[in-house]
Amino acid sequence: MNQIHNVHTIDLNFLGIPNAIAAYLIPHAHGGVLVECGPGSTLEALKSGLDSQALTPKDITDVLVSHIHLDHAGAAGWFARQGARIHVHHVGAAHMVNPEKLLRSASRIYGDEMDELWGEFLPVPEEQISILHDNDEIEIEGLAFRALDTPGHAYHHMAYLFEDMCFTGDVGGVRMYSPGPAHLRIPTPPPEFHLGKWRESINRLAAEKFSFIAPTHFGVFSDPQRHLGAVKAGLDEIEAWMENIMPGNPTVKALEGAIAKWEEERARADGVDGEALESYEKASPAWMSAEGIRRYWTKHRDV
Ligand SMILES: [Zn+2]
Repeated sequence: MNQIHNVHTIDLNFLGIPNAIAAYLIPHAHGGVLVECGPGSTLEALKSGLDSQALTPKDITDVLVSHIHLDHAGAAGWFARQGARIHVHHVGAAHMVNPEKLLRSASRIYGDEMDELWGEFLPVPEEQISILHDNDEIEIEGLAFRALDTPGHAYHHMAYLFEDMCFTGDVGGVRMYSPGPAHLRIPTPPPEFHLGKWRESINRLAAEKFSFIAPTHFGVFSDPQRHLGAVKAGLDEIEAWMENIMPGNPTVKALEGAIAKWEEERARADGVDGEALESYEKASPAWMSAEGIRRYWTKHRDV
């Protein structure tokens, strides 16, 4: 586990792959706060991360989730059962209380693999939900967070400022500890990936002052402006790529193959291969990005 200031990075070791999904623990006088809690399937790794700081799940007073995708918020209901308050974007809150629709659409995507991938997703009792709007300040045992409404990856997305760190969920892209120069991938899932909103969110983050940036996939980095510049460049690259590929009206399968190849080439050019490449693929699978791009193109561009 890495620690910067009072922030501990817990590797949830998703599907046995290191550096794919993080949860961030910030201890306080009466327990601790989690920023992100991962899916239900990685609870054991999360518990042992807490244990290494002499904490139990019942000590977690609050969980701040960036958005309600299963790899970020899947275990929130379980933590609510242990007594935690769950902080979530106002658009996502209803799905945490009544996850049936969210789980139905996830089941359509993941089929038989649903359980193995994500484990159990329990509802959060309404009285334990803290509904967030842009710029809301959250005070927990002397810790101060500010929520920044940052759509683009999903409509229901918050980044969180804490001291001189910004937790960026998925709007800050996917960046692993990898050999060679830093490599960044833009996860573009359905149904809400939106280039324009994403760019606005990055401008918004760039206007804030912080020294560390912590994407959920994965870890704390000390070059936030460079990082945000890489996200912007990544969005430009995706746009150029779409404008090249999409007018040819590729099948879903062809699109998936094309994006997988393109992402792999980008990664290898940055010196990423082997297990590191696998971590990127687990955190941001090509097929999912292909679906998101297709949906975005059909809805917003192909008119
Ligand atoms: Zn996501």
